[in-house]
Amino acid sequence: MIQQILPAYQKIYAQHFQYAQELSAVDLTQADKEGLFNKAAWNKAGKNVFHGLPVSKKFGGKDFSALETCCAFEALGKGSKDNGLNFAIGAHLLASVLPVYVHGNKAQQKEFLPSLVNGNKIAANAITEKNSGSDVFNMDGFAEKKGKEYIINCNKLYITNAPIADLFLVYVMTDKKKGFFGGVSAFLVPAKTKGISISKSKDKMGLRTAQMGFGNFTNVKVNASQLLGEEGAGASIFNESMVWERTVLSAMLIGQLERVFDNAVLFCKQKTISGKKLIALTNIAHTLAEVQTIIHAGKNLVYDAALSIDKNTRDRVVKSAMAKSFVSENGVESVKKLQLLYGGAGYLTETEIEREYRDMFASLIYSGTTAIQKNIIAGNL
Ligand SMILES: Cc1cc2nc3c(=O)[nH]c(=O)nc-3n(C[C@H](O)[C@H](O)[C@H](O)COP(=O)(O)OP(=O)(O)OC[C@H]3O[C@@H](n4cnc5c(N)ncnc54)[C@H](O)[C@@H]3O)c2cc1C
Repeated sequence: MIQQILPAYQKIYAQHFQYAQELSAVDLTQADKEGLFNKAAWNKAGKNVFHGLPVSKKFGGKDFSALETCCAFEALGKGSKDNGLNFAIGAHLLASVLPVYVHGNKAQQKEFLPSLVNGNKIAANAITEKNSGSDVFNMDGFAEKKGKEYIINCNKLYITNAPIADLFLVYVMTDKKKGFFGGVSAFLVPAKTKGISISKSKDKMGLRTAQMGFGNFTNVKVNASQLLGEEGAGASIFNESMVWERTVLSAMLIGQLERVFDNAVLFCKQKTISGKKLIALTNIAHTLAEVQTIIHAGKNLVYDAALSIDKNTRDRVVKSAMAKSFVSENGVESVKKLQLLYGGAGYLTETEIEREYRDMFASLIYSGTTAIQKNIIAGNL
């Protein structure tokens, strides 16, 4: 499968790998400790168009297919060890910029895309609420229509990029009777709009260099022109963005896992125990073989899902759920196994693999937990 797409894959991968390597210049151990977002690296990623890969060249993007976007994100995950920054770029692009590109009208595209694509502006998508994470049908947030305006009231949680965002893509009910499908609408709301209050960045287990906040929207007045797509189109806009996000972020996770794996192989080839290289021990060699197999299988699932997005086939929803659940579950297990190969050193912050584990762990939750991916897969049996 990968072989069929190899020539295009190699060129895009090599170029974006080089760009990605330029992004982790800071002392990451310290940045991770303090939860610091690297704005300079964000801007640099903008110069190399990571923030707008699938967007038309007309708006500064690269017109990449899902497959090409996955190549670039696999390279990002492998080349840049700032997983928090990589995730912030992915959340911005896949859950906010892409919906504006695909569903925005001409005026919205012209107003928002150029500065989002070059990274001068940062976007965040806000859907999760206290009683509505996996259970999106249970959303309380509401926008009441008054003439040509809507009044938004909601409390949104875990919003990636919120503390640094210029623009929110907010999902709220506009018709409770219709429920999630037909009853939820998406609004483009500039962060400076009156009535929005965003928390400080939350302290968290991993991806600490990505900023995450909670948002309170009280009587936030927006014009009907700020609706993204039709009223009631929120569910389909969100679901489509998740198909992209699950696929492309899984490509990024495969890149991260491959980087951790390569370092572990080097370590096992150098380190000796009782005069023997670590890699000469069968259990160690088998662990490395298992992880290499996971990487290969994960790549095939990811690129197969990406192809189904590009072909717009129905199975893209199931394939992206398969790729996401496989890569995140096996990714976390694999990093744990690799960490153990380092013995006590693996437990030290300076070895950096404990950060890789904490960062990878988040993938079990964002874009829908594994239980939700399994519900999607099983729901299509
Ligand atoms: C790093 C990170 C970044 C995020 N970024 C964003 C963002 O940018 N914007 C945003 O809006 N949200 C974001 N989220 C929120 C994320 O999408 C939710 O946390 C996630 O969907 C789970 O929802 P929840 O936290 O409400 O947990 P719950 O839905 O309450 O789930 C709790 C447990 O119940 C299980 N469960 C729930 N429903 C079912 C079911 N039907 N069948 C079986 N098991 C079930 C879950 O698997 C989980 O184990 C982010 C989260 C993280 C960790």
